[in-house]
Amino acid sequence: MAELTELQKYEFRRSLEEVRKLQGRGTELISLYIPPTRQVSDVASYLRGEYSQSSNIKSASTRKNVQAAISSILSRLKNFKAPPEHGLVFFVGHRSIGADQTDMVNFVLEPPDPVPTFIYRCDSQFFTEPLEQMLETKETYGLIVLDRSEATIGFLLGKRVVSVKNFQSLVPSKHGRGGQSARRFERLIEIAAHEFYKKIADIANEAFLSEKNLKGVLVGGPGPTKEYFVKSEYLHHELQRKIIDTFDTGYTDEYGLKELVENAREALKDLDLMREKDLMQRFFEEIRKPDGGLAIYGEEQVKNALMIGAIDTLILSEDLRRVRLKLTCPSCGNKKEVLAKDSTEVVKCDKCGAIMKTDEVDDLVGELHKIADANNTKVEFISGESEEGGLLLKAFGGLAGILRFRVN
Ligand SMILES: [Zn+2]
Repeated sequence: MAELTELQKYEFRRSLEEVRKLQGRGTELISLYIPPTRQVSDVASYLRGEYSQSSNIKSASTRKNVQAAISSILSRLKNFKAPPEHGLVFFVGHRSIGADQTDMVNFVLEPPDPVPTFIYRCDSQFFTEPLEQMLETKETYGLIVLDRSEATIGFLLGKRVVSVKNFQSLVPSKHGRGGQSARRFERLIEIAAHEFYKKIADIANEAFLSEKNLKGVLVGGPGPTKEYFVKSEYLHHELQRKIIDTFDTGYTDEYGLKELVENAREALKDLDLMREKDLMQRFFEEIRKPDGGLAIYGEEQVKNALMIGAIDTLILSEDLRRVRLKLTCPSCGNKKEVLAKDSTEVVKCDKCGAIMKTDEVDDLVGELHKIADANNTKVEFISGESEEGGLLLKAFGGLAGILRFRVN
């Protein structure tokens, strides 16, 4: 399955964040998960059944809101002949906006992974768990655990450890021989060991080289064999470059793979933070130059430089949340634009005090990302976990750039 682009991931994460926050006054928020294999007509008849069931709901306002939500989903479903590739997820209902007021919200998401099972849920909150799981990173690492007698090759896929192959060596053990033949025997052992390492490398090369998104290779084992294996460069040079480090494990079987991942966890986390720190350091170095170097910051400045293709790397904080909402008042027709953190912000009409309806949401990060893509600008998201990442958000408003050339 195709990996999501950073932008799609960001947009999906942002929608989920918004959906998660919403509260219903009663159990009147509907979450509907439609797997790709489900017939739309089936779903529609299921919903009609729920609609008639809902006439039993005691509270008049809850009943009215549930029925309105179901009707809304039914009418949107008409746009689909069949569910899209990964299915569809609806979050529809009246959210509470205080003072006994509610406002209808309507989210339709096409998830990054296939929806596994049909779910219909009516609650005072939306049910987002199945989607949260899809957001977990799916980075791939190659895993090798070895000593002189056994080796196991596998992958770390997101959080899952998958074993590819486990095999034993024919290297005889070192003890039990003495006298005249001892040196000759040593020599045989070394040849057998060399053959074994070559075999490990062959299997690892075959498994790992075809993996396009391989981020790195982790090597583990109980003794010094793993260091020897790495130092002697048995692996294909492309994989050799991707070796992150060696880690001690007690075992060299499938359990050893799990130990390896466990022991490498901190190193992998540091690696991500390192990348972020390096990037921010580069930015700070430029800023310190008397003429401002190739650093740029400030929303307008960054946007303008981006549009003329002057930015090499656009740096965005993962925590940057800013949208421009275009709103219309449903009772007096007044229009206005506001900057908000997200699309769930409740805005009242200046003229009559009614809750305004959102016509359009322009997300700053999404907008910048699209301009960047069109200009071959690299986009890096920086977490708030490092000191540098925190500074990006607090001191620079969460966005900055490193220029290709200086602009005025
Ligand atoms: Zn108004």
